[in-house]
Amino acid sequence: MILAGVHCVNHQRPYTGVEMKLSKKFLVPAELALLYDFVNSLDLRQYTEKGKQHEGHDELATAGQLEEWMRERGLLDARAAVSAQAHRMALKLRTGIRDYLQLAPEDRSAQSQAMVQLNELSSAFPLAVAVSRGGRINLGPAPGSNALARELGEMYLLSVTARLERLKVCASQECRWVFFDRSKPGNRRWCSTALCGNRHKTRSYRQRQRAAPDGLKIS
Ligand SMILES: [Zn+2]
Repeated sequence: MILAGVHCVNHQRPYTGVEMKLSKKFLVPAELALLYDFVNSLDLRQYTEKGKQHEGHDELATAGQLEEWMRERGLLDARAAVSAQAHRMALKLRTGIRDYLQLAPEDRSAQSQAMVQLNELSSAFPLAVAVSRGGRINLGPAPGSNALARELGEMYLLSVTARLERLKVCASQECRWVFFDRSKPGNRRWCSTALCGNRHKTRSYRQRQRAAPDGLKIS
């Protein structure tokens, strides 16, 4: 029966959490949703938006939170648990990926501490090629590997489709949100021109004013 396979395709557990997944909220392509949610599970944004101070937080602060996060995404069996060691490694992986993405795309090919660090970490999250029914080839966690290896698989996919350079850390020091640049030239520096870009421009303007000789100040 033709439709039989359709039921098998969507085998992932439905999302049952109260909050909307970040990748859905910010409409990032589905193939990088896990990676996007993972790197932005550490929210460092510290700014005022519409009169409200945004306080950053870490969605994966404890092993229990990581467990829940992974379960919601079908990355952990119902009875499996995340050990303290696995939690530490997960946070290291997140830092490693964030540090690498923090590099400007043109600097990512050069030897860097972030590159060395990420290569070391990736050996703890091995991947394997798996051919599924229908001939689809996926890069997923190797047998026995932590399911978070999928984040690295998504990075690889983005890289081979020449889109990894579009995944960047916002240039605003008060933000540092990881965003996917969908602009045509792919040269955006801020996650939001309206928020982070304008804040930056306003500050630069004030700094220029302060730096100007007294006689030129508008007051
Ligand atoms: Zn930003």
